[in-house]
Amino acid sequence: MRIVLLGPPGAGKGTFAEQASKTLGLPHISTGDLFRAAIKNETDLGKKVKDILAQGLLVPDDLTIGLVRQRLAEPDAQAGWILDGFPRTIPQAEALQEISPVEMVINLEVDDALILQRLTGRRICRNCGRIYHIVSMPPKKDGVCDVCGGELYTRPDDQESAIKTRLAAYREQTEPLVAWYDEKKLLVPLRGSGTPESVYSAFEKILQNRG
Ligand code: AMP
Repeated sequence: MRIVLLGPPGAGKGTFAEQASKTLGLPHISTGDLFRAAIKNETDLGKKVKDILAQGLLVPDDLTIGLVRQRLAEPDAQAGWILDGFPRTIPQAEALQEISPVEMVINLEVDDALILQRLTGRRICRNCGRIYHIVSMPPKKDGVCDVCGGELYTRPDDQESAIKTRLAAYREQTEPLVAWYDEKKLLVPLRGSGTPESVYSAFEKILQNRG
């Protein structure tokens, strides 16, 4: 199955995708993770996008589409995928239709107040990318990943000034995709405000009902 996760920053796309990837046995492909890995490894791409990510702006479409095209050509992506954070613009969505058409678009809906609360408390493992929240999903030991023992950090773009820019980018450039996918009868709305478990079980019910 080829699934796209839509929703504002902090909607829970990454957490949802981790769970869906395990349950459905599909690769979780996050363009944000791919960009952060490129920055960490100081590749040419990483150097180009470092400041863009820090500010909370969107990376230009040509770079992003090229990256996704390459990733979707890899062997593990042939049976399907869960795309998290892509597409974020109409040209990206058009490119995806041409590369490998999506079958289901989950739109995770959450209110702005919750978004801010989630993003400012979010911590990520520097080593394996696992996502935590200091209040709602804390690690067993402060600052340390339960899974791999890696160091937890706050993403630079989870600072309040970058969050505002990211939300504005979402409203202006990404939100139009909701109507775009709805018109194509691919959109599945899902309330993203509950616990990760409750959001995921609502998704499983939707899958069952679709047969
Ligand atoms: P995320 O981890 O999905 O929140 O993405 C982090 C950052 O990576 C975004 O704020 C953008 O700077 C960049 N990024 C991720 N995905 C895309 C995309 N599809 N188009 C443009 N920029 C992206």
